Amino acid sequence: MGIADQIIRIKAELGEGIRLVAVSKTRPAEDLLEAYRAGQRIFGENKVQELTGKHGLLPEDVEWHFIGHLQTNKVRFIAPFISLIHSVDSFKLLRTIDREGRKNKRRISCLLQFHIAREESKYGFSMTEAREMFASADFAALEHVDICGVMGMATNTFDQELVRAEFRELKSIFGKIKQDFFGRQNSFSEISMGMSGDYPLAVEEGSTLVRVGSLIFGERKP
Ligand SMILES: *Cc1c(COP(=O)(O)O)cnc(C)c1O
Repeated sequence: MGIADQIIRIKAELGEGIRLVAVSKTRPAEDLLEAYRAGQRIFGENKVQELTGKHGLLPEDVEWHFIGHLQTNKVRFIAPFISLIHSVDSFKLLRTIDREGRKNKRRISCLLQFHIAREESKYGFSMTEAREMFASADFAALEHVDICGVMGMATNTFDQELVRAEFRELKSIFGKIKQDFFGRQNSFSEISMGMSGDYPLAVEEGSTLVRVGSLIFGERKP
């Protein structure tokens, strides 16, 4: 199946209320344009330089999402146009995004990344760290970021029950944070989980944003 067919097929499968982030990292702009012509508007990238390059090559109405580990010294390059940063993994990063939002006279939408996988290497908050941050005066002082929800990556394994349990954990984290810190704000509403290998499971467990790359564009070269 081609890029356009996959976009149409996956979108139909997701149904209402769940958005598809086409993860286009390492792909040339022509591939993104093919997806764009099939109606895809949200693209996810994990390298700042690659993202800013493609931003200049694609139509204005594309929504760019950042999904990788973001270094504080690179936030300024994407701050003018980024639609959503999925991967906020420290307060230091959030404070930098706030500062760059202020400079650009905009509020930048963010998700907090949580560490849900068994693997050691993945970035992200623990529940304790997140609670500490939300309760702090430093957090309350931020004016140019909107925390819209949570993001997580499951363990890379064939064990479907482990993956399901991790997605459930993220959903539960989302629920607790919403209740304790965002009660009356409907803007806290997104759960970013699910990739090519596990997005149907993620959807069953309550995902609102799936991040699918290789299933749309083909396997990436290592
Ligand atoms: C690469 C990547 C994806 C997409 O992975 P696929 O397996 O190609 O669908 C999703 N989320 C993040 C954070 C990624 O880095």
